[in-house]
Amino acid sequence: MKKKKLILVLNCGSSSLKFSIINPDNEICYLSGIAECLYLNNSQIKWNCNNIQYQKLFLNPMSHENIFDFILKKIFITEKAIFSQVVAIGHRVVHGGIKLTSTTIINNKVINEIKKAIIFSPIHNPVNLMGIQLTLNTFPELSKKNVAVFDTAFYKNIPKKAYLYAIPYYLYHDYGIRRYGAHGISHQYVMYQTSVILNKKINQLNMISCHLGNGSSVSAIYKGICVDTSMGLTPLEGLVMGTRSGDIDPSIIFFMYKKLKISINEINTILTFKSGLLGLSNISSDFRDVESQYYINKKAKYAVDVFCYRLKKYISSYISLMNGVLDGIVFTGGIGENSPLVRKLSIDNLSLMGLISIDEEKNNNFKKQKNHFINTNGSIPILVIPTNEELAIAKKTKKCINVQSIQ
Ligand code: ADP
Repeated sequence: MKKKKLILVLNCGSSSLKFSIINPDNEICYLSGIAECLYLNNSQIKWNCNNIQYQKLFLNPMSHENIFDFILKKIFITEKAIFSQVVAIGHRVVHGGIKLTSTTIINNKVINEIKKAIIFSPIHNPVNLMGIQLTLNTFPELSKKNVAVFDTAFYKNIPKKAYLYAIPYYLYHDYGIRRYGAHGISHQYVMYQTSVILNKKINQLNMISCHLGNGSSVSAIYKGICVDTSMGLTPLEGLVMGTRSGDIDPSIIFFMYKKLKISINEINTILTFKSGLLGLSNISSDFRDVESQYYINKKAKYAVDVFCYRLKKYISSYISLMNGVLDGIVFTGGIGENSPLVRKLSIDNLSLMGLISIDEEKNNNFKKQKNHFINTNGSIPILVIPTNEELAIAKKTKKCINVQSIQ
C-alpha cells in the first residue's frame, strides 16, 4: 500500500492540547483529539479515530508532558498504521513577534524569536514552545520537519496607520509596541473558504471575519489582505471575551491602582482572567452558560448585550474600510458558529439601507458543521463557516516543507 504523507498538528493551549493527523491533500483527518483541564483534578482526553470516539478521565492532574506521553504510548502506538505515515509536524504558535511573519521550519533561531515574543503572548507562547520541545525530543528523525505556523502572520500587511498606537513613536520603534493581531490562522482559513463559496478571487475579496470563541476578534479583509483587526499588542484588546475585558480606557488601570490599592499583577489578573463574560455576568466565562440565562438574569443579559454591541461597533467601523464594496460578513469559532442570538444582535439594525440583514429562519435552523448563508434575499452575504485551524496548519506545514525541500 502506498504510504500517505500525513501531518501531525499540535496546538497547545494554556490548559489544553489539541492534536490531529491530517492528509493535507485530500483534507481527511485520520486521528484527532483534545486534552482539557490540564493541571486540574478533572484532566481528561477525548479522541476520535475512524469515527470511533474514545475518552479517558484521569484521577490526577495531568501536565502537557504527561498528556503527550499518554498520547504517544496509548494512542499513537495503538494507531501505529496512521502514525507511521507522519512526515512532518505543524505547530500552532500564537505570536511570531517582530521578525517571524510567515510559516517557517523550526530551528534554534526560530525558537529564540518565539521566546522573545513571550512578552507579547505570555499565556500562549510558552506552551507553544513546550509542544515544540516535546516533539523535537521525542521524534529526532523529524527534527528538521517541525514547522511553526503563526497566528500573527496574517497581519503582516496591516498598514502602519492601523497598527500604530498614538503613543510616543519610540515605543514602537525601540520596543515593538504595536498592534499584532491574533486568530490569524482561523481568519485566513475562513477567508479562503469564503473565496470558494462566493466564487470570488482572493485578491478581489472584501470581507469582515468574526472569530468568536473563548478569545474573540474581528478582521477587516480588503482585496484578500487583512487591513485591520481588533486584537492589539496582546490578545487583551478588542472584543469582549470569556475572561478578557477587550477595549477599556487605559485610565481604568490607574484608577484601580490608586483607589483599590492593588498591584499591577492583580490588575492584570482582573483584566485577563476575571473580566469579559465572566466579570460582567458573574456566572461563567463559557458563553453557553451565560446565554442560557439571557432572559432570566439581568447580569447575563448585560454580558451578552455588551459582547454583541462591541462586536457590532467593530463590524460597522470595518465596513468603512471596504471602499464601498463588501462581499460578505462571516461568523466562525464556537460562539460564531453556534449562537443565533449573537449573530442576530450584532447584525440587527446594522442594515445599510437594507443591504445587510439576517434571515431569522436561516439563522436559527441550519446543519451544524456546514458552511451556511444566513442573510435575507438581497442582503450582502452573511455566512457561518466552521473554522478548521488544524487543517489550515497541516496545509501550511506541507507547503513549507515542500518549498524547503526544493531549495
Ligand atoms: P477556543 O477559543 O478555546 O478555540 P471555541 O472556538 O471552541 O474556543 O469556542 C468556545 C466558546 O464557544 C465557549 O464560550 C462556548 O460556550 C461557546 N459555544 C460552544 N457551543 C455553543 C453553543 N451551542 N451555543 C453558544 N455558544 C457555544
